[in-house]
Amino acid sequence: MSVMTDCLPNLTMLLEQSAALHNHLCPRQVLGVRCGLYAAELLSLDLPQSDKRLFAFVETDGCFADGVSVATGCWFGRRTMRLMDEGKVAVTFVDRHTDQAFRIWPHPQARTYAHSYAPEETKRWYAYLNAYQIMPTEELLCVRPVSLTVSLKAIISRPHVRVHCSGCGEEIINEREIMHEEICLCRSCAGDSYYH
Ligand SMILES: [Zn+2]
Ligand SMILES: [Zn+2]
Repeated sequence: MSVMTDCLPNLTMLLEQSAALHNHLCPRQVLGVRCGLYAAELLSLDLPQSDKRLFAFVETDGCFADGVSVATGCWFGRRTMRLMDEGKVAVTFVDRHTDQAFRIWPHPQARTYAHSYAPEETKRWYAYLNAYQIMPTEELLCVRPVSLTVSLKAIISRPHVRVHCSGCGEEIINEREIMHEEICLCRSCAGDSYYH
């Protein structure tokens, strides 16, 4: 078994950044960072990016997503990350230059394997935290090439596009309006609201 040492200095630096965002470091942040480092390898990209070439669909929010962000430079705030809330610690990366996409998720046996990398650790949480940092990628993560069923172009939309909802009058950006018999409505006024 070869322990991951190649990108260890980089990993340590990224974990420090991730922990600083949270005031703590946890196994899910490590998983997020390791997914990001794996994406750099799979797509031969220099990450974390300063441009918007890589896009990430994370399947849960929280610590995992921040680990992914720190390692890749994909952020909700930069519109290079989107939450597909499936309650899964998993992420799909899309290279916008080549349309190549990979979904990465934890190996189903990762927790079992982890114990052999931190045998001295009696508390499981700490065993995962430490082991996930040194486990070889093939024991920690699974990967599969995928193609999207959603339009990344539509998700990203175009800058400076704005309309006003005929119902509430609020401004809608990113072409999220719904046309209803020639009338332009926001999702909420069209009946698809998350509040009332
Ligand atoms: Zn955490
Ligand atoms: Zn409205």
